[in-house]
Amino acid sequence: MLTIRQLSVTYADGTQALRDINLQLPTGMVGLLGPNGAGKSTLMRALACLQPPDSGQIEFAGINVLHQPQALRQQLGYLPQHFGVYPHMSCYALLLHMAVLKGIRDKTEQKQQIDALLQLTNLSAVANKSVATFSGGMRQRFGIAQALLGNPKLLILDEPTAGLDPAERERLHALLVQISRDKLILLSTHIVEDIENLCPFVALINQGQIVQSGAVPGLLAPL
Ligand code: ADP
Ligand code: ADP
Repeated sequence: MLTIRQLSVTYADGTQALRDINLQLPTGMVGLLGPNGAGKSTLMRALACLQPPDSGQIEFAGINVLHQPQALRQQLGYLPQHFGVYPHMSCYALLLHMAVLKGIRDKTEQKQQIDALLQLTNLSAVANKSVATFSGGMRQRFGIAQALLGNPKLLILDEPTAGLDPAERERLHALLVQISRDKLILLSTHIVEDIENLCPFVALINQGQIVQSGAVPGLLAPL
């Protein structure tokens, strides 16, 4: 469903963050596993058209991503690792703002989607509270709710379980399993258990290169 060919990214200071990435990813939960500095965030930003590559091709569901970024945005939900929020706005107001940015203009449609996402992420009771007052787990669930606006077919989640306690991590795992049916969810992590519990398919990345990719049971056994 997502094909990456010969993708390389070099930052302005000369750091080569990705070298000749080749990957073919199926629908469902896909883990991107690697240590800090491996290139996970860079790859995710490149896929989200937020980091122009030196060279390479990306194709998602028939879209030539690097040439048709607008078409990709219609299909994309993205949760960056450091997700900033406007502290003075309520959870509901922020989702409404983001729905408009995503091109959801019909008022009934906005309300329906937001109410359904609040319910899905278990945030209905705190919809009128400022996101600044949320715990880490609540913020991550809010981040997933905003990424799901517009029902994207590609969901990119950069370290969504970072900093969560075990109970919150389990809650997030359950939520991701629930939404993964008809999507490609690419999730980066440096935690092997995230992959074991969630992802049938994994790509291992180190020093800007894909070391291995494939079905999880075989791949993770030697780790
Ligand atoms: P990860 O997400 O796996 O921790 P990153 O994609 O953030 O890895 O980083 C990959 C490499 O690129 C690292 O060496 C990092 O220091 C470097 N890097 C990331 N962002 C920048 C940037 N804006 N400018 C220069 N180097 C960067
Ligand atoms: P991540 O692992 O997701 O990249 P970091 O905490 O490493 O998270 O990076 C946070 C921000 O700093 C990102 O925007 C990244 O691009 C930038 N950054 C990371 N490494 C470098 C670097 N060596 N030089 C400049 N910017 C960097």
